[in-house]
Amino acid sequence: MSTRTHDRDGATPYMGALYLGGRELPIKDPVPIVNPARLGETVGIIPVGSLDEARQAVAAAHAAFPAWSALPIAERARQLAEAGEALMPGMEARAALLSRENGKTRLDAWFDCMGAKRCTDYYVGLAKDFKLEWELPAPNGRVLVARRPMGVTAVIVPWNAPVLLAFLGIAPALIAGNTVVVKPSNFVPLALIESVRLMAERLPAGVLNVVTGEGAGVGTELSTHPLVRRVIFTGSVGVGAKVLENASATVKRCTMELGGNDPALVLADADLDQTVPGVLKAVFTCSGQICYDVKRIYVHQSLYARFVDRFTQAADAMVIGNGLDPKVTMGPLTTQPQYRFVNQLIAETRTGSGKVTEVGQKAVSDEEWKNGYFIRPHIVTGVDHRDRVVTCEQFGPIIPIMPFASEDEAVRLANDTEFGLASSIWTEDIDRGWALARRIDAGTTFINTHAVASAVDMPFGGFKSSGLGRGHGEVALEEQFELQTISTRRLDKGN
Ligand code: NAD
Repeated sequence: MSTRTHDRDGATPYMGALYLGGRELPIKDPVPIVNPARLGETVGIIPVGSLDEARQAVAAAHAAFPAWSALPIAERARQLAEAGEALMPGMEARAALLSRENGKTRLDAWFDCMGAKRCTDYYVGLAKDFKLEWELPAPNGRVLVARRPMGVTAVIVPWNAPVLLAFLGIAPALIAGNTVVVKPSNFVPLALIESVRLMAERLPAGVLNVVTGEGAGVGTELSTHPLVRRVIFTGSVGVGAKVLENASATVKRCTMELGGNDPALVLADADLDQTVPGVLKAVFTCSGQICYDVKRIYVHQSLYARFVDRFTQAADAMVIGNGLDPKVTMGPLTTQPQYRFVNQLIAETRTGSGKVTEVGQKAVSDEEWKNGYFIRPHIVTGVDHRDRVVTCEQFGPIIPIMPFASEDEAVRLANDTEFGLASSIWTEDIDRGWALARRIDAGTTFINTHAVASAVDMPFGGFKSSGLGRGHGEVALEEQFELQTISTRRLDKGN
């Protein structure tokens, strides 16, 4: 068992090793992970895994599969519950580590890290009554349907909520009897590597492995390797499509949790006292870098001006700075490419027909501001529904607000997108909200909220380009198995 500790106040960089086949590999080709709120600060070091190490990880997972899958599900659940206990000590320090590598506030980072434990507990709990076999009526014999684990599962995750997203795949896969290779994003790997290591070293060698690496190298290897039977991918639509293409040659089972362009529809009767703070949070959580953050707001024309005014005032009160500072409500953007993309989108939108209003309080000096990927909230009005600032996944603190005249128009605008992840309706009339929700093409529709109320048990995923299959909930456990039908005909006893 590793003796590595990591430093509570973060003075020493975290050393993130590859962990595969039950052992930590020595760091080679080290790459620094920097704090997006302080670009001069190295938060940790990771080795960038090679194709060879990706293959070793798959081989280790493949070797561990027969024994792990042969255990009764209750025994796997017991072992996972026990290993999951290792996640609790050090949770605060891990949240601080995640805040420093990602930029998100410490509270958001804590929810992300805690997601590992919540997912583990949830799927351990489901194992108790989970049906692995059932019979069908068969007058001339016996027909049995059995759930069978698939084998090695690659869990490929992005940088925005890495720990929660990884464990939404890891926990059901392991409970089902599959073995796992996790590939973090090279941008934000540290808290995830640490969380996986804590669990992995308490499970049989090779059951849970983590290998870092470039998407185009290690990621491609995991999605093409013939011994990987299943891929659980969370990331952008473009990369997800590539992964599907790569996985198709060996017909791997794939779950795809992809991008979004979530609309919020504010109806004429919405209570602005509750709606404005609710929508604000849904727009700017993690600086807009959550797949189901609200990316466009449609407001009934009768309250459009009032909504824009109050929303702008509320956004102006936001405090932007280092996520570890308790008074900060929004951290920096996480990566340099995302910082550049959002700045470019803001510049492009400024040259268009719309009005761009920049608001928010700076909680760092001008010098520190320049030394981080900070962007204040930008509110965009007067744009056309077809403008890029509305149609793209901005993944940053820039939000278009547009009026609508009728609910039919609102539904048409909400559905006029290639994406279909989540959406929300804000109204005092819940029945009306429910009726409208059934007309929106999205995997989730919230009413008077836009947050995964119960992150683990509620099926979550996308319509259209936003995904394939569902994560969270019992359905995500069902997706970890192949179904095998065993059909027997009773033998005629000849006279
Ligand atoms: P990304 O698609 O660039 O990368 C995701 C992961 O895929 C990373 O680990 C990356 O290294 C890897 N990768 C890159 N190229 C690969 C390849 N060819 N083969 C295999 N793996 C490869 O996404 P990102 O920029 O890290 O994250 C942001 C995106 O993730 C946004 O689009 C966001 O909406 C999406 N996301 C979706 C959900 C959801 O649940 N639907 C949740 C969070 C994030």
